[in-house]
Amino acid sequence: MTTSWYPIINYDNCIECGSCINKCSHGVYDKESTKPIVIYPEGCIDHCTGCQALCPAEAIQYYGDDGSGPKTTCSCGC
Ligand code: SF4
Ligand code: SF4
Repeated sequence: MTTSWYPIINYDNCIECGSCINKCSHGVYDKESTKPIVIYPEGCIDHCTGCQALCPAEAIQYYGDDGSGPKTTCSCGC
């Protein structure tokens, strides 16, 4: 878990498809909302891009992403 890596949503691009919310099993997103709201950034897995990979609108970037380093999904497959 980390606070140096977590998703930042571009709401201008987001079409509220729900894919990111449904994908993440680490409590990062508010599951009660159809709009992706990051409520628990500490739960995000360092360098995981599982939700970004599913986003059809290129609306997810990551705090802490400087373009270097590995991008992966976490061991649970999210
Ligand atoms: S990057 Fe991975 S751990 Fe972080 S919010 Fe997206 S799916 Fe969850
Ligand atoms: S996957 Fe992308 S378009 Fe869909 S709700 Fe998440 S940020 Fe919005």
